[in-house]
Amino acid sequence: MRILITGGAGFLGSHLCDRFLAEGHTVIAMDNIITGNTDNIAHLAGHERFLFIKHNVSNYIYVDGPLDAVLHFASPASPNDYLEHPIPTLKVGSLGTLNAIGLAKGKGARFLLASTSEVYGDPEVNPQPESYWGHVNPIGPRGVYDEAKRFAEAMTMAYHRYHGLDTRIVRIFNTYGPRMRLNDGRVVPNFIYQALTSQALTIYGDGSQTRSFQYYTDLVEGVYRLLMSSETRPVNIGNPEEMSILEFAEAVLELTGSNSPLTFIQPTDNRMIDDPRVRRPDISRAREVLDWEPKVGLADGLAETIAYFRNRVL
Ligand code: UDP
Repeated sequence: MRILITGGAGFLGSHLCDRFLAEGHTVIAMDNIITGNTDNIAHLAGHERFLFIKHNVSNYIYVDGPLDAVLHFASPASPNDYLEHPIPTLKVGSLGTLNAIGLAKGKGARFLLASTSEVYGDPEVNPQPESYWGHVNPIGPRGVYDEAKRFAEAMTMAYHRYHGLDTRIVRIFNTYGPRMRLNDGRVVPNFIYQALTSQALTIYGDGSQTRSFQYYTDLVEGVYRLLMSSETRPVNIGNPEEMSILEFAEAVLELTGSNSPLTFIQPTDNRMIDDPRVRRPDISRAREVLDWEPKVGLADGLAETIAYFRNRVL
């Protein structure tokens, strides 16, 4: 296959480039490098089946030649990033999706949308199955990401129903691993960086809010299987191992061997507004239709991630 990956220089996009190249496909990565980084794809320079195009997909996308699949992964994804870039976030989820899906239609390619557990907002049911419609505040600061992704899902389904486009929607839950940005503001890089540099781990609120963390290799496998499947309904891909942020902080301290203290802070900026109290994927559908489930537990995934950050910090 010849595939386009938007956001191809990002954390997940670049790992997907590696996977598709390893499977023998040809990959075009497109990224405007707002939150992506060419370091993530530097090892692919000169690869005969790889091409990088620097472009903002919120503007019209031109790609020469045939395409078999378009994977739309471009978007700021860390709350810090989308709170700092609210309008580009809204644009890439709306205009960017329109451009990417229009390109897929023009080329007769399959379209896969990277959606998110944020479509469930601050959920009133836990775990979240795909049938849950969500609990999102459209006018809150997080709404720029959540509503853009919800719009992108609506657009994907409209092209599927009205134009018969072959589409896939993956709802990605918190994912971590090498190539995350050290300063992206998310809890995984923050805590690891703080632990490695003997600074206090910053727990926002009382730390009782929960998340379920998945290692990137599991996500990549889930996306690959979904693209190759015939499932056109949304599919949750995440690790159902749920824990509180306080428990997560303790796990990071243990695995880094750090003596950093914990500090409980109440951020004064927007970032705690509508912060989900709980989050855990129901992965029954992924199990059933993709025969997929996560393989990497937190201790193993974190050990790899800590080693990656250690090389960059110390
Ligand atoms: N969080 C925290 N300390 C930090 C960064 C984040 O306690 O230094 C909390 C944050 O409030 C949220 C959870 O960790 O409840 C996960 O935040 P993250 O930004 O990683 O991603 P989210 O799941 O909110 O998209």
